[in-house]
Amino acid sequence: MVQRFDLAIVGGSFAGLACARSAALRGLKVVVLDAKPDPGARVRTTGIIVKEASDEFDLPAGLMRKVRGVRLYAPDDRALDLSAPGYFFQATDMPGLMHWMADEAARAGATLVYGKKFESGLEYERGVALGDIHAGFLIGADGARSRVAEAFGLGVNRRFLAGLEIECEPLAAVDGRFLHCFADSKLAPGYIAWMVPGVNATQIGLAASRPQRPDLGGLLRRLKAHFDIRDIRVTSRRSGLIPSGGVVHCLGARRVMLVGDAAGMVSPVTGGGIHTALHFGRRAAMLVADHLGDRGIHPVVAMTREAPRYRAKLLLRRLMDLGPPNALINAALMTAPMRRLAQRLYFHSRGEKSESFEAWCKAFEQEPDAKPHLKLLT
Ligand SMILES: Cc1cc2nc3c(=O)[nH]c(=O)nc-3n(C[C@H](O)[C@H](O)[C@H](O)COP(=O)(O)OP(=O)(O)OC[C@H]3O[C@@H](n4cnc5c(N)ncnc54)[C@H](O)[C@@H]3O)c2cc1C
Repeated sequence: MVQRFDLAIVGGSFAGLACARSAALRGLKVVVLDAKPDPGARVRTTGIIVKEASDEFDLPAGLMRKVRGVRLYAPDDRALDLSAPGYFFQATDMPGLMHWMADEAARAGATLVYGKKFESGLEYERGVALGDIHAGFLIGADGARSRVAEAFGLGVNRRFLAGLEIECEPLAAVDGRFLHCFADSKLAPGYIAWMVPGVNATQIGLAASRPQRPDLGGLLRRLKAHFDIRDIRVTSRRSGLIPSGGVVHCLGARRVMLVGDAAGMVSPVTGGGIHTALHFGRRAAMLVADHLGDRGIHPVVAMTREAPRYRAKLLLRRLMDLGPPNALINAALMTAPMRRLAQRLYFHSRGEKSESFEAWCKAFEQEPDAKPHLKLLT
């Protein structure tokens, strides 16, 4: 029997669930279809959330852990500490966060169907048909290799980073104040490797520009030589593709629109896409609700106007894809211009006077009002 909805969403992750919650709150009858068996299954991301996303969305603090500094290592192991007063990243309990987002979308009234893979659909004058589900509009929030994009002839991602990560029991030897990032063209050509003091876990991973491959074994050997981490107990593994070619050329059709990774809304430099997935997922809901309910501007026209352009970042990505030799990284990383560039990439324009992390922590100690936050730094 045909089930009718105003909005069908393929993909129940950051973009799809943000879209579903917002659309349901705006009065649309919404269904989300996802291939994974439950919201917390098949995690494919490190899950670091930038402060801007944490400011814009009310996500539960209990599922996150603030990390205030970045320690960036050259291939020869010299390290650069970066921070910006007031800024932080949030490491997350990803399965927990996905369950929370799914619960929020369901509480708003959306119907969530897990274990249902989208294969094909048909667009007609007044909507789309996905088997026995018919909807006035379809959002493809189904990630880097979007089946919705393929099925409806929309733009597809063509350039990728390949990411690989292990999650292990917390490693005491890892300084929990920092995201530890490793620039190394041999291990992670075109990108970096990382070690994240996460929520009750340490995450170790790396990515490489395709078709090159990240060398996780090599990374672990390098880490074991420099940190006291011989006894790694792996609890899970994650891997996935990160679009790195910018927003796709065609975001939608009459009754279909892509959002999040499916639309290529990922920073080509940092590979970060959670903030854009949340932001444009919610924005897609507003646009579809306005269009279906109030004859507002067509969602695809508005989204094409608003989607990030990434012009400078795409240029930088081309340089990174060349995989500068490690000798060059060693020579350049500690110089003032590179430090400024790293500061800008990690912290945007903040903290350009590049106060040292230690000096910044001391400043905290001298301000009585700031003392409670110190607990988070230890
Ligand atoms: C290894 C790795 C590490 C990363 N680390 C970070 C990070 O730390 N911070 C950051 O900001 N970004 C990071 N990213 C990028 C970030 O994960 C993505 O930008 C973000 O998850 C995009 O969210 P999304 O909802 O658009 O898509 P996704 O999170 O990819 O979700 C797509 C959903 O669609 C479902 N789906 C796919 N195909 C179908 C189908 N045919 N039918 C039904 N359902 C389907 C999937 O099951 C999935 O739930 C990382 C990516 C990788 C691969």
